[in-house]
Amino acid sequence: MLSQGSLKAFRESLRGASFCLEDVGYDAARTIPNAMINRRPAVIARCAGAADVIDCVRFAREHSLIISVRGGGHSVAGKSVCDGGVMVDLSAMKGIRVDPKRRTARAQAGLTLGEFDRETTAFGLATPLGVVPKTGISGLTLGGGFGNLLAKHGLALDNFISVDVVTADGRLLTASSDENADLFWGVRGSGGNLGIVTSLEYRLHEMGPVLGGAVLYSATQTKDVLHFCRDFAQRIPDDLMIQGGAFTSPDGVPVFAVAACYSGAALSAGEELLQPLRNFGPPIADMIATMSHLQMPRFFEPYFPPGRHTYVKSNFLRALSDDAIATIARWAGTSPSATTFAPFFEHWHGAVGRVGVSETAFPHRQHEWNLFAWSTWTDPADTEKNVHWTRQCWESLRPFLVDGSYVNYVSDEGDVSARASYGPNYDRLAACRV
Ligand SMILES: Cc1cc2nc3c(=O)[nH]c(=O)nc-3n(C[C@H](O)[C@H](O)[C@H](O)COP(=O)(O)OP(=O)(O)OC[C@H]3O[C@@H](n4cnc5c(N)ncnc54)[C@H](O)[C@@H]3O)c2cc1C
Repeated sequence: MLSQGSLKAFRESLRGASFCLEDVGYDAARTIPNAMINRRPAVIARCAGAADVIDCVRFAREHSLIISVRGGGHSVAGKSVCDGGVMVDLSAMKGIRVDPKRRTARAQAGLTLGEFDRETTAFGLATPLGVVPKTGISGLTLGGGFGNLLAKHGLALDNFISVDVVTADGRLLTASSDENADLFWGVRGSGGNLGIVTSLEYRLHEMGPVLGGAVLYSATQTKDVLHFCRDFAQRIPDDLMIQGGAFTSPDGVPVFAVAACYSGAALSAGEELLQPLRNFGPPIADMIATMSHLQMPRFFEPYFPPGRHTYVKSNFLRALSDDAIATIARWAGTSPSATTFAPFFEHWHGAVGRVGVSETAFPHRQHEWNLFAWSTWTDPADTEKNVHWTRQCWESLRPFLVDGSYVNYVSDEGDVSARASYGPNYDRLAACRV
């Protein structure tokens, strides 16, 4: 049992704010973007620094409480909020120092990727992160980090060079390739399983404007568009990323979109490369334009407002075969919700595959196509039909999918999925002792 006295002493020891059930701000602090998640921690500690995080770990151990860790709160499974335990909320830890000479940035764990990009772009620098600005850098990086620079510079986790981690026994360790190397191997892919990361140091790369956006086709053209994308993808360089899928356009038309981002130095080369995509069909809308690296993620933001119910299925495809394409096309434009993105593909290529499967804990280096169904809706009364549709869609795609998933996209799939998702790295990860 948690005594009021020890809870009070713990809260007073913190430099940051804290919230219990009866406090103003408690509900806002436990709310995350996915409206499906409704959990009530015993206490939420909005940590101001590593010392607060250490105290949270010690307090939770002393009282046998579970811990959840909130970076940006975007885990669809709601992993950042626990019932009855200590929610370690890092969202106030937003310090960042960019070193333009060394081309590195040391960032605290509560930054979102939009905030991070804002600071590095001021120096004409960037690191690969995701495509929606409000996503937290921590969860995204520790689980992988797919984004528009994947082919050029790899995953987010391929670009951090050291981390500070509070371990389960309350020590703060630094991990890098030459210090606590086993921990460094594990945190690159394990999500939050090995400790609470308080800051990350990233390698930065030169970054200019990009040629990016999307072309929209009618959902009835899905099959043809996917055949085109399969061929197109075979001849694209590391400077170009594509992803795409079915959704409903803002004016209510079921479409299949292909988003592209060219980040090469000469945008004229990108114009030339993208011509076949922009001419194919032809598309019903072409929204590809030159924009800054900061604008590109903002392109996607309006489609992912907080407060929607969200249910996701995701696996890598064995291959984008004719039969897989036919099945994807059958589901395009059939979701019961106009705000769903499904089925949706990401084309993985380039630098991500030049890192060995067991060089980091993240094993998915060889798959070319990642597929997901990202169902979202607003009315809780629509939950059953949307979850049902998503599961049916996924079951029909199952024969074309590998067992493993990119962990950042899974809802709660249990131990079998965790084993498959870490593949040959599972046993080493499970044995990681820090
Ligand atoms: C709208 C939206 C867009 C997305 N876009 C992309 C994308 O473009 N590319 C991509 O790869 N992924 C994307 N994702 C998936 C995203 O990477 C994961 O949801 C990721 O877990 C989010 O990290 P977070 O810090 O915001 O989430 P949180 O829910 O706060 O954390 C996610 C997990 O990481 C753990 N964790 C977080 N911070 C720490 C820490 N400092 N130390 C230890 N453990 C920690 C949490 O406990 C939890 O288990 C997107 C998700 C959403 C909802």
